[in-house]
Amino acid sequence: MPVDASLLLDIARRFQVLGDLLSAVPYGTGHINDTYVVTCDQAGEPVRYLLQRLNTKIFKTPRGLMKNIEEVTGHIRGKLKRQGEPFTRRVLTLVPLADSGVCFLDDPELGFWRCYLFIEGARTYDVIERVEQAFEAAKAFGAFQSLLADYEGPSLHETIPDFHHTPKRLAALKAAVAEDPLGRARDCEADILFALERAPLAGRLVGLQAEGAIPERITHNDTKLNNVMLDDATGAGVCVIDLDTVMPGLSLCDFGDMVRTACNPLAEDDPDTSRMVARGDMFEALASGYLQGTGGALLPVEREHLVVAGQLLTYECGTRFLTDYLLGDTYFRTHRPAQNLDRARNQFALVRSLESQEEAFMGRIRNLV
Ligand code: ATP
Ligand code: MG
Ligand code: MG
Repeated sequence: MPVDASLLLDIARRFQVLGDLLSAVPYGTGHINDTYVVTCDQAGEPVRYLLQRLNTKIFKTPRGLMKNIEEVTGHIRGKLKRQGEPFTRRVLTLVPLADSGVCFLDDPELGFWRCYLFIEGARTYDVIERVEQAFEAAKAFGAFQSLLADYEGPSLHETIPDFHHTPKRLAALKAAVAEDPLGRARDCEADILFALERAPLAGRLVGLQAEGAIPERITHNDTKLNNVMLDDATGAGVCVIDLDTVMPGLSLCDFGDMVRTACNPLAEDDPDTSRMVARGDMFEALASGYLQGTGGALLPVEREHLVVAGQLLTYECGTRFLTDYLLGDTYFRTHRPAQNLDRARNQFALVRSLESQEEAFMGRIRNLV
């Protein structure tokens, strides 16, 4: 639901935004929340803030989510300060309400709002253009994780339970096939079979975690390129943003999701998968950036599973698209018929290509220091 400009200014005024409010307009290309940029005049200088209405249909426990963001950004800021590093652009800064220290506005009519300082001189990219961007983004996500490695604050809230529990995602697919409410299963028997045959892949990472071989860490869980701000002048990663899904998880899930998005040479819903060849150059740039960013913190067993993680997270996403197709496209928004089936097929084609290049990709990691 679009928000009227004067109402937006009223909402902005509820936060500690300094100066005279000039404008508030929709901003960016995020898919989940409603994002606006607010401009104020501070002694003749325009100063911007980022105002967001949280999507509470997806995030059902917004207060827990905001507590996570306060804890995580507070921890990173404290650490950067102690290290004597500049921090204002390196970490998101929540702006509190004007009449209290609370960092969100929860109003039965207006919805759930928050406000951040605007990070200037940097931008996000929706589509990866160069391997250097993959490197910088992976390095930034790796550094984000290593800044949180010694977090000892209150345990973080699970904002979406079982987000990357792949066997549960496969179980949801099986349930959708059994129910088949729209009779769509007959259109995609081969795709369903593809997913079912890979049950062992689905269990790889949760299996390693259950054995205690890989640790739970604080992870971002939405590691797309457009969730990292890259510096306008240097192209270097400046700040990891979009912290709604930060919660305990596996490093390999963060890495695998980067592979899923950066190594796909096609659009995510391109039905012509005959040209699907996973990009090894992107994979190498991601692995190199992530290893640098995490600063040697990844265990050998995590390093050995970087390639599998790419296959697994791509498989998981394809499985979710297929499930949603069978259930009538209720989760992922579609703009044309069978788009979720095309998305599933595209992801599964990428899994195939990642699997067939497994040895070559392993070789690329071996060469990295
Ligand atoms: P997604 O679809 O990735 O889940 P979202 O709806 O959760 O996105 P965000 O990623 O938080 O929204 O923000 C949308 C866009 O707004 C970002 O891609 C970025 O370009 C911009 N943005 C977000 N926070 C800031 C900030 N503090 N300073 C400057 N720009 C920002
Ligand atoms: Mg985002
Ligand atoms: Mg988001």
